[in-house]
Amino acid sequence: MTSDSFIPYGRQSISEDDIESVIKVLRSNYLTQGPIVTQFENALCKQVQADYAVAANSATSALHIACLALGVGPGDTVWTSPNSFIASANCARYCGADVDFVDINPQTYNLCAQSLAKKLETAQVKNKLPKVVIPVHFAGQSCDMRAIKMLADQYGFAIIEDASHAIGGRYQDHPVGSCHYSDITVFSFHPVKIITSAEGGAALTNNRDLAISMQCLVHQGVTRIEQEFSQASPGDWYYEQQTLGFNYRMTELQAALGLSQLTRLDEFVQRRQQILRRYEEGLKDIDLVLPYQAEYASSALHLFPVLLPHIAAQNKGQFFSGLRQSGIGTQVHYIPIHTQPYYQALGFRWGDFPEAEHYYQRTITLPLFPELTEVQQDKVMSCIKGELEKWIK
Ligand SMILES: *Cc1c(COP(=O)(O)O)cnc(C)c1O
Repeated sequence: MTSDSFIPYGRQSISEDDIESVIKVLRSNYLTQGPIVTQFENALCKQVQADYAVAANSATSALHIACLALGVGPGDTVWTSPNSFIASANCARYCGADVDFVDINPQTYNLCAQSLAKKLETAQVKNKLPKVVIPVHFAGQSCDMRAIKMLADQYGFAIIEDASHAIGGRYQDHPVGSCHYSDITVFSFHPVKIITSAEGGAALTNNRDLAISMQCLVHQGVTRIEQEFSQASPGDWYYEQQTLGFNYRMTELQAALGLSQLTRLDEFVQRRQQILRRYEEGLKDIDLVLPYQAEYASSALHLFPVLLPHIAAQNKGQFFSGLRQSGIGTQVHYIPIHTQPYYQALGFRWGDFPEAEHYYQRTITLPLFPELTEVQQDKVMSCIKGELEKWIK
């Protein structure tokens, strides 16, 4: 199988302008720590209507500094969705905190606000309330943030939105990233995500103190803001390390690519929505559950996960390799985080979060990305029909 005929589940779209903007940086004075990272941060703020953005070398790093800025440490607990990429949980472990999960809503596959309410009630009795909850906007569709924010106010936890899939999406009247119902929102710019900076991420907030703290953490814990110094500045060379930080900086090359891609965000999301509508039309008579589109949100459509009928789901290994052999780069999003050996070693078991596990048994992700052609999409649809016919007869 040649790479030409292989259709991945997701991939970047790079224009000549994107390439030019990176080349321009290569010819400039700064490959890192120059002006473009700040420009990218400002453009992100404007795009999603947030006050502050801190660019980082990945969403994983951004999640880590977001947890630290909110004071997460040993003895604390962070809750997230089991139906996510492992980074949504690992960020809390980096801080020495415990992780727990809230089961998903079987319709949206997002962290379920009702399950959260129930779990909080029990946790309060046991005096084990979470310090931070990290809802994940799975496949690009926002969680029910208003309900989660009401619980945050009632129980006193902070919220980090893991919006790695969701830049360009909306929740009610707000762009995802506006932090209207959260303390911090994190984006990923990995190539399979909505826009890319190769590797990269960002943390957005409307809270100045959190922004300063996160900016400091991506630069080794160093501040150059004189008002923040704890000792008198002896001269302009002076900087202070006030806390233990990291080298989580984004480079100028990454920021230039991200900045250029950001101008194409609306075009990307519109194209994804077109592809979704074509899938909905072409697959409507097939025994597949297509992803539910909630009326309170507009999804950025990072992923197109479909649920297989039970008989095919029971043979998902063969189903999956059948599609792969036809050149369809299907994937599975996600293996429930709590079932990973690392998390099982912390005491989690199969059966702990049944909705996420049932969903996992049946789900398969089909290709959806801006440059997917109609011919390729037709091939995806005919291959999935062909595979289904092998099981349903
Ligand atoms: C991709 C992803 C991340 C991690 O993003 P990186 O930029 O690769 O570190 C975190 N959370 C979710 C939900 C993701 O999909």
